[in-house]
Amino acid sequence: MSRVVVCTWGTSGGAEELLTLARGVAAGLEATLGWVVLGPAPHDVTAIASRQDVPVVDHIEHEKLQSFGGDVAVAALADYVRQHDFRVLLVPQTFDARLLAPRLAARIDAGVVMNGLGVVVEGGALAVTASAYGGDTRVVYTLAGEGRFVIGVATSALAAEPAPNPATAVTRHCAVDLAAVEERVQVVTRSEQTGPRIEEADVLVAGGRGLGEKANYRLVEELAEALGGMAAASRPIVDEGWAEPARQVGLTGKITRPTLYIAAGISGASQHMVGCAAAKTLVAINRDPEAAIFRYARYGIVGDCLEILPALTRAVKG
Ligand SMILES: Cc1cc2nc3c(=O)[nH]c(=O)nc-3n(C[C@H](O)[C@H](O)[C@H](O)COP(=O)(O)OP(=O)(O)OC[C@H]3O[C@@H](n4cnc5c(N)ncnc54)[C@H](O)[C@@H]3O)c2cc1C
Repeated sequence: MSRVVVCTWGTSGGAEELLTLARGVAAGLEATLGWVVLGPAPHDVTAIASRQDVPVVDHIEHEKLQSFGGDVAVAALADYVRQHDFRVLLVPQTFDARLLAPRLAARIDAGVVMNGLGVVVEGGALAVTASAYGGDTRVVYTLAGEGRFVIGVATSALAAEPAPNPATAVTRHCAVDLAAVEERVQVVTRSEQTGPRIEEADVLVAGGRGLGEKANYRLVEELAEALGGMAAASRPIVDEGWAEPARQVGLTGKITRPTLYIAAGISGASQHMVGCAAAKTLVAINRDPEAAIFRYARYGIVGDCLEILPALTRAVKG
């Protein structure tokens, strides 16, 4: 009988939600449900497995798995899969999952879908809903055929429900051979941020490519300071080095919820708006009256931000 397996590592956060999803997939495929834990097992694994009717938790423990590393994790799972095959392997969509799932799939010749939001079985085939184009749209992949699939799923959108018939879960220790594997990328120091964070700021003034050049970012900083807030930025100007990465707002930056968000020279791309749409009041300054940002803004100023920012700063300072 084929298996639907959830794989987790680190904490058990999201595991129960993913197991609930996996239970439905296993039922649809008439497969058994499994859970494999890589590295140190969280204390609540047995309790979660029992609630989710997972009879056996496979625990892969090894001294090289004490913390997550892509090379070791891929090798461990590839070895595990050689011993215990599966039809569908579900992983929580995390940063680590990006280092693990596609490489594992390539190693074991399986298909892979990342950024999944849901998985169902329709007419015997797997249908995976996933976000695409940086979150701009949703797609549904129909995974036809009898092959194996590795699927990354965002667990924040899932709900955990206990199984109607809970199991009494047991743990099976699985040995893997990692003798020849060494982590190629070593974390030497982790970046540390000190001081205030834009995620916690009440007032943000954000600048975008419309500022024209690096020197003009000070206009954003000056207005932010006058308002007692913080300066923020769109991704292109962070990429250009006009502002620090910790100031980037958006999908690949910070999600902010200020009372006031002033966006200067920012077009309003969806990937930026993800990070500021929760602002209570959004003010946009853009010289293009058709700019998308005006669709989100409570107040819109059509004009040159290089003139309007200093004028606002003067007005605030009185
Ligand atoms: C996977 C993915 C993730 C991404 N993540 C992020 C993210 O986290 N954050 C992010 O910001 N972007 C992100 N992006 C990029 C995003 O799609 C946009 O390209 C980006 O937000 C555009 O930045 P911008 O508005 O500063 O620049 P532009 O799109 O170039 O817009 C500049 C705006 O300034 C206006 N302008 C020009 N001159 C002036 C002036 N003198 N006065 C006033 N207005 C002026 C223009 O009319 C224009 O609207 C991501 C993209 C992808 C594909």
